[in-house]
Amino acid sequence: MTDQRVLIIGGGIGGLTTALALARRRIQVDLVEQAAAVGGHAVRLSCKATGSCVKCGACLADQTVAAAAAHPGIRLFTACRAAEIRYASGRYHYLLAQAPQHDRPARTIPGEAGAVVLASGFQPFDPSGKPYGYGRYPDVVTNLDLEGMLREAGGVRRPSNGAAPERAAFIQCVGSRDASLGHLWCSGFCCAAALRAARLLKHRRPELAITLFYIDIQTFGRDFESVYAQARAEIRFVRAIPADAFQTEEGRLRLSWVETSAQGSVEEEFDLVVLSAGMTPRPEIAALAGSLGLSPPTAGFLTANRSPGEGAFVVGTARGPMGIADTIADARRTAWDIIRFFEGRG
Ligand SMILES: Cc1cc2nc3c(=O)[nH]c(=O)nc-3n(C[C@H](O)[C@H](O)[C@H](O)COP(=O)(O)OP(=O)(O)OC[C@H]3O[C@@H](n4cnc5c(N)ncnc54)[C@H](O)[C@@H]3O)c2cc1C
Ligand code: SF4
Ligand code: SF4
Repeated sequence: MTDQRVLIIGGGIGGLTTALALARRRIQVDLVEQAAAVGGHAVRLSCKATGSCVKCGACLADQTVAAAAAHPGIRLFTACRAAEIRYASGRYHYLLAQAPQHDRPARTIPGEAGAVVLASGFQPFDPSGKPYGYGRYPDVVTNLDLEGMLREAGGVRRPSNGAAPERAAFIQCVGSRDASLGHLWCSGFCCAAALRAARLLKHRRPELAITLFYIDIQTFGRDFESVYAQARAEIRFVRAIPADAFQTEEGRLRLSWVETSAQGSVEEEFDLVVLSAGMTPRPEIAALAGSLGLSPPTAGFLTANRSPGEGAFVVGTARGPMGIADTIADARRTAWDIIRFFEGRG
């Protein structure tokens, strides 16, 4: 198997885990990542430990990046795209185009592989120009913005004035389960992510009042039931989704919603609103799939994980919403499929 090479497009946790599983079986890997560094979305997440580990999985990303970078069988090309991929005589012939980095000029790298893995991941839903005033009201932030804020030394502050928030709201299912957008899927990760983030905020500042607006809470995932049970003791849960947010003259955010128990609409003010933005497919996924002979996407995601006969495979959230643990499991399964594919070819 030592003469085999695989090209992986995308250096998130899915692409990196596939690369490591293959390299450990002595299959050479070229991994191409369009960003300046590998790791994808998972390396932007913060640790949610509240005294003890809450198994969010974020640190698995850092470990995987370090292991992939150190493995001699993996060539990592950052700030790089596969400019050309051609399938001929049972092999993929490609040209990688790497942008200039630091003191190194731009370059193109030709290569050849027996299989290609598409691990291009997802795009977080962008709520700009939609209800809730994201981009217009500074104290309306997304879950990914909050991840960055949680990493900051001074703790989470209101972007508008730098003050610690007194009343925070999380709004679930933003950009997911929304027929008006044609996004019927549940993004899977954002209930657990919101609860862990909310619990961490509360752990750091017990006086912060947190309300979480939800449709229902998806409780799948490792050990999530216990996180949910603890969250119910610390956070107010409201089973309703506010239609919009309005900024008051004092710069606070007014949310109104219909609560069945209150028999009418309820209105309250908050000073930080976190939108649990879900996963959406990457816009270029159909073109990438077409160039590799993969079936076209269904609702934007590539549900089939490989091309019939040829060596093109799909891994991770390019296939549909999944969290870190499921992406890792999917990548390991796919690595085995590739090994079997090479063995089948003799
Ligand atoms: C706010 C937030 C919180 C989350 N919290 C959790 C959590 O607590 N626990 C959990 O399990 N999961 C969580 N997740 C989900 C987790 O981030 C994903 O499961 C994981 O990142 C999926 O990895 P991936 O490799 O499939 O995709 P990605 O992370 O999207 O990686 C794909 C990579 O491919 C690159 N790429 C794309 N197109 C190309 C191309 N054409 N050429 C080259 N490179 C390309 C991208 O730049 C990116 O680096 C969270 C996500 C968000 C947004
Ligand atoms: S799994 Fe999450 S909570 Fe646990 S140590 Fe890792 S990053 Fe922190
Ligand atoms: S995981 Fe929760 S917040 Fe995310 S889309 Fe599904 S139900 Fe909505």
